[in-house]
Amino acid sequence: MSTAKPSSTAKPSPKLAATVLDGKALAKQMEQQLSPRVEAIKEKTGRTPSLATILVGDDPASATYVRMKGNACKRVGMDSIKVELPSETTTEQLMAKIDELNDDPDVHGILLQHPIPDHIDERACFDQIKLAKDVDGVTCLGFGRMSMGEPAFGSCTPQGIMYMLEHYDIELAGLEAVVVGRSPILGKPMAMMLLNENCTVTICHSKTQDLAAHIQRADIVVGAVGVPELIKAEWIKEGAVVIDAGFHPREGGGVGDIEMSGVADKASAYTPVPGGVGPMTINTLIRQTVIAAERAAGIEA
Ligand code: NAP
Repeated sequence: MSTAKPSSTAKPSPKLAATVLDGKALAKQMEQQLSPRVEAIKEKTGRTPSLATILVGDDPASATYVRMKGNACKRVGMDSIKVELPSETTTEQLMAKIDELNDDPDVHGILLQHPIPDHIDERACFDQIKLAKDVDGVTCLGFGRMSMGEPAFGSCTPQGIMYMLEHYDIELAGLEAVVVGRSPILGKPMAMMLLNENCTVTICHSKTQDLAAHIQRADIVVGAVGVPELIKAEWIKEGAVVIDAGFHPREGGGVGDIEMSGVADKASAYTPVPGGVGPMTINTLIRQTVIAAERAAGIEA
C-alpha cells in the first residue's frame, strides 16, 4: 500500500526570503578593519601606505572613478598619489612613468585607470606594472598566477564578488556557474576564481547561442555584460545566486545587466543594484594596497 500523501493535501513549503548581498554595508565594515592595519604599517615603517593612480586624458567618468578611489584611501588613513597625463602621452612615456612608480618605495600599489586613449598600447602598459604593486590585478602575470592558484592580487571586481560570497557563507563547490561576459578585468578572472572554488563554469559572450538556456541551468549567475537588463528574470533558476556587476543610471536609481524585478522571489541570494558589487570593487583595491604595503613592511597579514 502506498504511503504517499495525496497531492491535493500537500502544501508547498514557503520559500525563504532571498539573502541580499549587501556590498555597501560589507565594504563599510571591511574599511573599518583596514584603518588599524594602515596605522600599524605607519608605526613600523614611518611610511604611509600609498596608491598611485594614473589618469591619461580627460574622460570625466574616469576622473570620477579616480576621485572615488582617492577618497577611499583617505577614509582608511592612506595616501593617494594622482598622476594626470595628457591624452597625447605615448606608450613609451606612460611606461616610463609606470617604471618610476615601480621603483618608488613610497608607492605600494599602482592603478592605471581604464580606458586609456586608443593610440597607447594598453596591454603593454598594464604589464609594465610590477607584480608586487599590481593591486588592481591587471597584469597577464598576475592573471596567470591567480588562475594557477598561485599568490597574486585578483582583478578587483571579481575578487570583491568572491569576498562577498565568502562573507555570506555561500558554498560554491559543485555549483553550475554561468558568467556572462569575458573581459580581461571581469568575466575571465571571475570564471577562473569560480573554477578555483570548484564550480563548473560556463562563460557566455556576444557569440553565445541561446543565452537563456545557459542561464536557466545556472546555480550562480554573474552578469558582466554592460547591456542594461540583458539577462531576463524569467531565465533565473529557482534558488540561484544572482550577481550583477552592471550599473546603468536611470531616473531615480539605476538598473544592472540583469533584470532584477522578480529575481528576489526566485533567487536564494542576489546583489542589489546599486549597492552590491560596486562598493566591493573599490574596497578590494584599497584592501589589496594595504596587503601590498604590509608585505613591503614585512608584516604578516
Ligand atoms: P566589456 O569589456 O565591454 O565586456 C563585455 C562582455 O560582455 C564581452 O565579453 C562581450 O562579449 C559580452 N557581451 C556583450 N553583449 C553580449 C550579449 N548580447 N550576450 C552575451 N554577452 C555579451 O565590459 P566589462 O568591463 O567587463 O564590464 C561589464 C559590466 O560590468 C558593465 O556593466 C560594467 O559597467 C560593469 N563593471 C562594473 C564594475 C564595478 O566596479 N561594479 C567594474 C567593471 C565593470 P564579446 O567578448 O564577445 O564582445
